[in-house]
Amino acid sequence: MTELAAAPPRSCSQRSRRLLVTTIVLLPFAARAPGQVPFARQRERMLDVIDAMMRATGEQTGRTQLSARVRDAMARVPRHRFVPSAQQEFAYADRPLPIGEGQTISQPFIVALMTELLDSGPADRVLEVGTGSGYQAAVLAECVAQVFTVEIVRSLGERATALLSELGYRNVQVRVGDGYLGWPEAAPFDRIVVTAAPDHVPHPLIEQLKPGGRMVLPVGPDQDQELLVISKQSDGRTVTENKLPVRFVPLTRERKAG
Ligand code: SAH
Repeated sequence: MTELAAAPPRSCSQRSRRLLVTTIVLLPFAARAPGQVPFARQRERMLDVIDAMMRATGEQTGRTQLSARVRDAMARVPRHRFVPSAQQEFAYADRPLPIGEGQTISQPFIVALMTELLDSGPADRVLEVGTGSGYQAAVLAECVAQVFTVEIVRSLGERATALLSELGYRNVQVRVGDGYLGWPEAAPFDRIVVTAAPDHVPHPLIEQLKPGGRMVLPVGPDQDQELLVISKQSDGRTVTENKLPVRFVPLTRERKAG
């Protein structure tokens, strides 16, 4: 998936190396070999990068910094647990990573920005479309009362369910299915976030959004997606704001039998 300003792998690994060197210079007495920088410390550095990205894009997004709630959530979720072990050393780099089945975990800045743009409250019930690794769901679970997340690829949905449960996220429910259709039985939702790009705003999701609710989603073809914030007013009408060019994997539809 993604996304804005995703650094190519080479510059990322150079950046990680620079990060390790800086860390070693700053902590001359900490006997840690490169690669053993604690994940909590890598997470702090990830947050510094997100802060800088928020400032750099603030004019377009209308948000120059993360709220404390979202920032704390990003600081708590162990992102390295949501990536394949071969990718763990890059888990806190600000870029998307492959998670199998041709899918990706989003760049941390985009996860933080989408969570921020949702303007969720602690009592909210939130629908996510595109569970993937479960990382965005975990960040949401730190912020709101209940998360419902739908994944179309069964193996990813099952893996995310097991991991979220192992990490103790009791307020997340995962379903395998076509998230274009939302989750009618659990609707309406205070907030909806879509992490794969449809070519139009799915009507069922608008229907399942509460009046006063907000939805954040990428919309558009592969090379030309925009991150939208859709607010549903009390009379049911919607207002759409266009925030940022982004790059997500496409939202796919369930294959019909035959
Ligand atoms: N939020 C994820 C990133 C997901 S990448 C994370 O934090 O890791 C987008 C995901 O959307 C992929 O896993 C893809 O399989 C899924 N997806 C694509 N089309 C879908 C659909 N119609 N319904 C549900 N999930 C879908």
